[in-house]
Amino acid sequence: IDKQVFNFSAGPAPIPREVLEQAREELLDFNGMGTSVMEISHRGKEFIKVAEESEQDLRDLMNIPANYKVLFLQGGARGQFAAVPLNLKGSKKSADYVNSGHWAQSAIKEAQRYLNVNIIADGKLSGFRQMPSQEQWRFSSDAAYVHYTPNETIGGLEFPYIPETGDVPLVADMSSNILSRPIDVSKFGVIYAGAQKNIGPAGLTVVIVRDDLLEKHTSACPAVWDYATQASKDSMYNTPSTFAWYLAGLVFKWLKRRGGLAEMDKINERKARKLYGQIESTRFYSNNIDPCWCSRMNVPFTLADPELDAVFLVEAAKEGFLYLKGHKAVGGMRASLYNAVPESHVDALVSFMQEFERRYG
Ligand code: PMP
Repeated sequence: IDKQVFNFSAGPAPIPREVLEQAREELLDFNGMGTSVMEISHRGKEFIKVAEESEQDLRDLMNIPANYKVLFLQGGARGQFAAVPLNLKGSKKSADYVNSGHWAQSAIKEAQRYLNVNIIADGKLSGFRQMPSQEQWRFSSDAAYVHYTPNETIGGLEFPYIPETGDVPLVADMSSNILSRPIDVSKFGVIYAGAQKNIGPAGLTVVIVRDDLLEKHTSACPAVWDYATQASKDSMYNTPSTFAWYLAGLVFKWLKRRGGLAEMDKINERKARKLYGQIESTRFYSNNIDPCWCSRMNVPFTLADPELDAVFLVEAAKEGFLYLKGHKAVGGMRASLYNAVPESHVDALVSFMQEFERRYG
């Protein structure tokens, strides 16, 4: 018997129901092979087809130019925190980083093991409610790249624009907002994302890298994270995370069937508007991010009376709402609204919040 739940997890996050049903359907007999996709060689033609189709579908969805490689790696976004400096440092000694919150800071800390980090813009000064305008960013003259975090999963701050960095490659940790809207990939040197939010299951990391940057790697880079090595082996230098890759491929096909990223953009906008609309309509709930910088994917909010936090979570759990507790670094509540969260679930959350306020407000 299906139990109706409303999953607002920040990650690992919901996977489209249709995709899970298809995976269940194919689980014991993939492609008439009499075995599951988990149990076949990554080098056989059946899995190569999965790999090639998923890459092509992702290229179609994101409109990825031909001079970019798409890699399907392991190690998560935190692995990329190290892989980025090790792959892009070249002969430079430093890189520019934008500090927009928790995940940007984690990326900075890891990069500092490998090169000098200049923090060129710091949201700390505004309590991470917004970022300084680009005119105020202090770009350095000899940076290997500029790194930023387009969406801060914990803080709930999302860039409303793509920064301009001229000839210096722009690197983005797109873990929590990749595939949520169309973007111009040609503005980036590297885009990377852990899969477990908007792509598929944990254990897979997507990296999109411009060809000319493959030459900048350092010998210290582990081969499994070396973009040039993995690109030359079609992401199969080592055994890839095959089941996660297969599921990601099903998610890409689901996205295409639903109208691609332009359609996702509209739905995500509507979902976010509904939830922020509810939060803004009353003093009972609040979110303190500057409206231009509010994340559409991760919506943290607090109750005017923090004593009610625990009651809110208990009552929500009774109604089938999962993972509304805010990250421990910030407290309060958080609802993540990735692509696979249906709009009807946001409607259910808004109704629950209204009802809760009627009872406890
Ligand atoms: N960057 C961002 C923006 C994230 O949201 C997360 C995970 N929540 C990470 C990095 C870390 O990802 P992983 O656990 O895949 O290393």
